[in-house]
Amino acid sequence: MSKASAFQAVTDCFQHAADQLGLGDATRELLAGTYREIRVQVPLRLANGTVRTVYGYRVQHNGARGPYKGGVRFHQDADLDEVRALAALMTWKTALIDVPFGGAKGGVQVDPSELSETEVERMTRRYLSQVSYVIGERRDIMAPDMNTSAQTMAWMMDEYGRKSGHTPAIVTGKPVELGGSYGREAATGRGTVIVLGKAAADHGWDAADTTIAIQGYGNVGSWAARLAAAEGFRVVAVSDVRGGIYAPDGLDLDAVDQHLRQSGSVVGTPGTDTIGNDELLTLDVTVLVPAALGGVINSDNADQIRASLILEAANHPVTPEADSILADRGVEVLPDILVNAGGVTVSYFEWTQNLQEFKWTEDQVNEQLRRQMVAAYRSVKDRAEQNGKITPRQAAFQISVERVASAAKLRGYL
Ligand code: GLU
Repeated sequence: MSKASAFQAVTDCFQHAADQLGLGDATRELLAGTYREIRVQVPLRLANGTVRTVYGYRVQHNGARGPYKGGVRFHQDADLDEVRALAALMTWKTALIDVPFGGAKGGVQVDPSELSETEVERMTRRYLSQVSYVIGERRDIMAPDMNTSAQTMAWMMDEYGRKSGHTPAIVTGKPVELGGSYGREAATGRGTVIVLGKAAADHGWDAADTTIAIQGYGNVGSWAARLAAAEGFRVVAVSDVRGGIYAPDGLDLDAVDQHLRQSGSVVGTPGTDTIGNDELLTLDVTVLVPAALGGVINSDNADQIRASLILEAANHPVTPEADSILADRGVEVLPDILVNAGGVTVSYFEWTQNLQEFKWTEDQVNEQLRRQMVAAYRSVKDRAEQNGKITPRQAAFQISVERVASAAKLRGYL
C-alpha cells in the first residue's frame, strides 16, 4: 500500500479554505506550491571508517509574511513529501499565531538512534553546511523538531559561524548559554496546556476531573504532561516508542521521570499498568494529546476514539479521513497549527532577543506566549462559531490563508 501524501492532506485543507474565502486562481496557484526545495547529499563517515550516504532536505514554502521559519528533524520517515507538508504547516502556523515569519522545514532522512553522538554531530554540521546557501538570519531560520535539540542547534550555529561569523539568530531553540531564550524548551508543551486550559473552561470541565492521555513523552509530550499536572489536570497515560503506561487515578510524573532516566523508557514505572501505543489512543479519557508522529489517528482507529477533545500537539497526527469521522462523531479536534504553535512563538521571541542582543526574563516570555496563544485560540473558536458548520481546523486555515494571501497581495506578488 502506498503511503498517503502528507503534503496532499495539508494542500486539501488549504484548498478548502481557499474555496470558502473565494480566492482567485492566481492566489491559489501561488499559495499551494512551495517557493524552493533543496535536497542535499550528506556523506557520513561512521566511527568504523565506512561511509554512509544519507539525504537531507530544506523546503521553503512561503515567505510573504517574513523570513522562512521552521524546524529540522532527523527521522527515517522525513522524505521530501513529509518535509514539504511540514513546511506548509509552518506557513499556516506562523500566520495563525501571528508571528512575522513564513514557513519552512528541514529534515535528514535517517534514524539517529543508529548513530553515535559524534556521528550525529558530524552529520548535523555537514547538513548545515550543504544548505547554508539558502538560509540566513533574515532569510530562513532553523529550529529543533523531532530528534533534534538545543545541542543540535548549538552545532548548527557554530558551523554557520565558521563561514559567516557569529550569527546567533540563524537558529532558534539554542541552549540558553548560547543565546537561547528562557522558556523555549518548554514552549510547545506550555502552549498546548494554555489551549487545554481555555478549552476546558469553554466546556465547563473542572481540571481535577479532566483526564488526559498523552502519546509521546519527548520534549513536547513530557512538558505538556508536567505543566498540565501542575495546573491540576489528571494525566493518566503517557507513552514512548517502547509502549505506554496507565494509572487511572493519575500518574506520579516524578516517578515517571525517574524511571525514564534510569531505564530509558517510561514503560515499567512502578504503580502503572503497561499498555500499547494503540491502546493509549482509545482510552476512555476526556482529552487525548497525540504528541509524537503524524498520521497516528486514522481511518483504522478514529471510530474507537473515546476522548471528547483531541489536542494536536504533534504535526498532522489526525489524517483527513479520521478528521471527518471524528467531526461526525462530535469529537472536537483542535489543530496542530494552533495547539503546537507555542514553539515557534517563543522561537520568534528568541530571534528578536538575538537581533536586539537583549535577554527577556522567563516570566516575560511566558506571559507574552500566553497572550499570543489565547488570542489565536479565541480567533479560531470565534471563526468556527460564526461560520456555523466548520471545524476548528477549517476555521484556523481560513484565518491563516487570509493573512498570507493579504501579505502576498500587498507585496505585489498578485
Ligand atoms: N519544530 C517546531 C514546529 O513544528 C518549532 C519550529 C520553530 O520554532 O521554528 O512548530
